[in-house]
Amino acid sequence: MDKQQDFVLRTVEERDIRFIRLWFTDVLGMLKSVAIAPAELEQAFAEGIGFDGSAIEGLTRVYEADMIARPDPSTFQVLPWRGERNGTARMFCDLLNPDGTHSLADSRFVLKRAMDRAADKGFTFYTHPEVEFYLFRPQSSPTDPLVPVDQAGYFDHVARGNAHDFRRAAIQMLESMGISVEFSHHEAGPGQNEIDLRYADALTTADNLMTFRTVIKEVALEQGVFASFMPKPMAEHPGSGMHTHLSLFEGDRNAFHEPGAQYELSRTGRSFIAGLLTHAAEITAVTNQYVNSYKRLWGGAEAPSYICWGHNNRSSLVRVPMYKPGKTNSSRVEYRALDAATNPYLSFALLLAAGLKGIEEGYELPEGSEEDVWELTDAERKAAGIKPLPQSLDKAIELMEQSELVAETLGEHVFDYVLRNKRQEWDAYRSQVTPFELDRFLPVL
Ligand code: GLN
Ligand code: MG
Ligand code: MG
Ligand code: MG
Repeated sequence: MDKQQDFVLRTVEERDIRFIRLWFTDVLGMLKSVAIAPAELEQAFAEGIGFDGSAIEGLTRVYEADMIARPDPSTFQVLPWRGERNGTARMFCDLLNPDGTHSLADSRFVLKRAMDRAADKGFTFYTHPEVEFYLFRPQSSPTDPLVPVDQAGYFDHVARGNAHDFRRAAIQMLESMGISVEFSHHEAGPGQNEIDLRYADALTTADNLMTFRTVIKEVALEQGVFASFMPKPMAEHPGSGMHTHLSLFEGDRNAFHEPGAQYELSRTGRSFIAGLLTHAAEITAVTNQYVNSYKRLWGGAEAPSYICWGHNNRSSLVRVPMYKPGKTNSSRVEYRALDAATNPYLSFALLLAAGLKGIEEGYELPEGSEEDVWELTDAERKAAGIKPLPQSLDKAIELMEQSELVAETLGEHVFDYVLRNKRQEWDAYRSQVTPFELDRFLPVL
């Protein structure tokens, strides 16, 4: 028994924890949970807990249904919303096959494998996500009109508003679970909020995001409201994105920082951005995985639609934020396409792989664009070499299908599963006859 396992066992006893939830993530990024009794813990650490993986999205094919979840003791946390007495705790799990090998369907393993590849080159990958979401009044059906909890806008201070209490309660809960929050504010849409997590290595951030989405939903329920990470819930208001700041460290040194360089951004940082831009279109079916994601990407309101980079340019896909003087560790690049409905493990693995490819192959970074790329004509964008992100899930799937980088990074099983699942989603979507069509065509055709 190692020290961390020992710590978990002692804490469970001392704090009278009655249930331990074993958490893992399916291929679409949905959280899965199975609770065990404290008496099962030692066994779970030693051998893992068996379950039938065939009923879970993308985990196994029916004829190889048995899977094992083995908890990672370094992720042990008590769940504050379950109360202090007879408490509940959770740990994230690694998924194994019955023979003890890593399951190739485990998203967490996909990210670990990508980070190991980076480690071979001496790099640790850090991420810092800005998560946006809406708060609505509860509905009795998802097709009821959406009623945001307030009418406030960007950075507004809402007097006696729900959102303030909400953010305070949510952030306290996150911090009590060891998840540090850096900023939070009201976003541009009515009822829209943003909470930014402090940077951490990408595996920790991905775990934290899984917890984050659960905490936000729990706190919303407690306060009688409803939280949604849907990328574009209302056509006339901004979508919810998850801009993510990325950096590579070599030991204690930020590999993106170079004093005196343009934006203090090193050659490594420039090649990393070149990698992101080169591979952006083919990873979009994962970073923006739902038909609805494309309503955000093509809906304006500061969500990116074109593949370019800039410094102070909020229409660009990649932004190099202002360098904070003296803070050499703050050098980073912001990838703005992601939405919070993504599977963070798979998305971070792909962003890392794209950036590393740029470094390995020494991709040259094209000129940055500081003008608003939405204002340019198609011809001007073409002349500047600025290509669009995929405009629909259909297009994104087509580009992903041809991508060696995505196939290699996700591994064959996850790659095939994502493509199959997304193709089904697209087919189901395009076979709908929508209110738009009835409204526009029925009266005149
Ligand atoms: N909501 C915008 C998006 O969808 C971002 C707005 C902002 O943070 N500048 O990406
Ligand atoms: Mg922000
Ligand atoms: Mg924002
Ligand atoms: Mg941002």
